[in-house]
Amino acid sequence: MSQAQIIDGQAFAEALRGRIGEEVSGLIRDHGLKPGLAVVLVGEDPGSQIYVNSKGVATEAAGMLSVTHRLPDSTTQEALLALVAELNADPAIHGILVQFPVPAHIDPLVIQAAIHPDKDVDGLNTINAGRLATGQAGLVPCTPLGCMMLLEDALGSLRGRHAVVIGRSNLVGKPIAQLLLRADCTVTIAHSRTQELPAVARLGDILVAAVGRAEMVRGDWIKPGAAVIDVGMNRIPSRRPKAAAAGKTIVVGDVAYDEAAEVAGWITPVPRGVGPMTVACLLQNTVTAARRLNGLAV
Ligand code: NAP
Repeated sequence: MSQAQIIDGQAFAEALRGRIGEEVSGLIRDHGLKPGLAVVLVGEDPGSQIYVNSKGVATEAAGMLSVTHRLPDSTTQEALLALVAELNADPAIHGILVQFPVPAHIDPLVIQAAIHPDKDVDGLNTINAGRLATGQAGLVPCTPLGCMMLLEDALGSLRGRHAVVIGRSNLVGKPIAQLLLRADCTVTIAHSRTQELPAVARLGDILVAAVGRAEMVRGDWIKPGAAVIDVGMNRIPSRRPKAAAAGKTIVVGDVAYDEAAEVAGWITPVPRGVGPMTVACLLQNTVTAARRLNGLAV
């Protein structure tokens, strides 16, 4: 039986998008400023096509300018860099996102580095990673930003709590650890070489799983009453044998939800947990970038 309070990321993200829409109306009305997001997709990856479409729809729904550049698989790195340079110089564009993965002949690090740091709404270039690590204002990766909003909404102040983050990717694990540190948590970062991982995880008043392994975190890895943030999105065969035989799949997190919900104090489900926050925070970052680029307070 579930005891944990469910952190409804879907509802939170919808409310956040509503607030962003109101903020955008105010920026247009008071400053003639319409935040603009450019998304660049190279190639035909079906998953990326879905993400890019949904980002465009969400951007327009918030009243912002949405521009999507769809480039063929054969696009050279030079051509992509030329487009990024054009977008860097375009005053109507405040956020630039190049959808990853890019084709193998393009170096993602070169592309990330070419995006103007103040338009880097993915928060992935080294200038923004450095700003985050040194406590300066910058743009923060969207998924970690969303996780922090959910945690602070559920718990209030995070000060002094022990946060354990499983995963150390540049996209999720490292930036969320930095944000938790900034919020005065004591932070432990665990990874694939961590010994006694269940015991380490059990130290966490806050446990963030960003691993990419379906249901790896079991109920007995969780400190009773902890807040569990499950970033994982893993596609596995349906649990119903007939559906599985027909090739049907489901998405699960990195946490074994039913077990974990019996022990945790708060928990994000998958889906409807962290996932919807990522697009909402992309919109938030675009508004933040538009304000800063126009000398307005954030
Ligand atoms: P990633 O780059 O593959 O990083 C995974 C991390 O997990 C690595 O640091 C790795 O350790 C660690 N790890 C792997 N196996 C482990 C194990 N057995 N024990 C302990 N640690 C282990 O993945 P990512 O990009 O951070 O994404 C993580 C998950 O979040 C994925 O499921 C992804 O789909 C999901 N995700 C969701 C959203 C969203 O919007 N909800 C956004 C981004 C990502 P090493 O460094 O030692 O290899």
